[in-house]
Amino acid sequence: MSGYYEILGVSSSASADEIKKAYRKLAMKYHPDRNRDDAAAEEKFKEASEAYEILGDLEKRKIYDRYGKEGLRSSGYSGPGSPEDIFSSFGDIFGDLFGFGGGQRKPQGPAKGADLRYDLTITFMEAVHGIEKEVEISRPDTCWTCEGSGSRPGHKPEICSTCQGRGQVIRSQGFFQVSTTCPQCKGSGEIIKDPCNDCNGNGLIESKKKISLKIPAGVDSGARMRLSGEGEGGRKNGPPGDLYIFIYVEAHEYFERDGNNIYLQLPISMTQAALGCKPEIPTIHGEKSLKIPAATQTGEKFVLKNEGVPSLRGGGRGEMIVIVKVMTPSNLTHKQKELLTEFQKLENEKVDNKEGFFQKIFNIAS
Ligand SMILES: [Zn+2]
Ligand SMILES: [Zn+2]
Repeated sequence: MSGYYEILGVSSSASADEIKKAYRKLAMKYHPDRNRDDAAAEEKFKEASEAYEILGDLEKRKIYDRYGKEGLRSSGYSGPGSPEDIFSSFGDIFGDLFGFGGGQRKPQGPAKGADLRYDLTITFMEAVHGIEKEVEISRPDTCWTCEGSGSRPGHKPEICSTCQGRGQVIRSQGFFQVSTTCPQCKGSGEIIKDPCNDCNGNGLIESKKKISLKIPAGVDSGARMRLSGEGEGGRKNGPPGDLYIFIYVEAHEYFERDGNNIYLQLPISMTQAALGCKPEIPTIHGEKSLKIPAATQTGEKFVLKNEGVPSLRGGGRGEMIVIVKVMTPSNLTHKQKELLTEFQKLENEKVDNKEGFFQKIFNIAS
């Protein structure tokens, strides 16, 4: 890592103000919420944060100027901890940058945008096979004219005179003192005297954005995708919120799904069931032939391994379970009726009724 001045791109005689400005520029550029999955940017952000932590502090800067990093270490400063530590202090650092000097109370600093929720309905087959979808989302985004401050560029909000920037006012009620949100500034601690023309001082503008979603094969209803930084825009240079996509999967006309297994009710005729057959059946991966042996009963199950839904975490597919439903013939033609009557006669000769199924029921009932 190079020296702290080099990292911030300032000279070693830079004023505190110049250092703040330089850091702010870098932090905005490399903030992780704006550079998703960019390790290089995260590294730059960490470097800049560390540099600012030293050079932004008069005491630490003095030690660094005289003795370098070695001197800082021996004076007990061990450098920043995990990235999370830096991120959690991010708000504070920016509060300082945007605050008003001279020992006044600083108004509320940068505000992270709200997390948003978007419900997305996809078809059964889209869920099974995965799909890339482009959705257009309308959400309040940071107004880049004023960078979310709400003030016309070049103008600064004034500290609210009612609450002196605290955002809270104290009222006496009998013996009690009650702290409530300041009615003048509604808790922000500042009054925007010159509102930005684009956002009317709101700091946010409703805007549409197309987002490409990669929905993996195997998702099911209730799945959630988090798109970091795609939520509501931040105010006053705060980071944007996140966008949560809630997935709903439509039911299918024939297939039913339980986890990664697919169920299909397969109607077959009485003769197919009795004599056996080999029909082509639909699966979620195309048509497959299924061997149904002679003397198959209603409710019998046939398992097709590996014909189910791909596992979201990888590692194969579930299975497909075919449940046979034997259909009793109806609307018989005269000829069919004759043949069935003939068939029944033969059946009666073959089956000893006393041992038969129905006889047993009669015996129990009587
Ligand atoms: Zn604006
Ligand atoms: Zn106020």
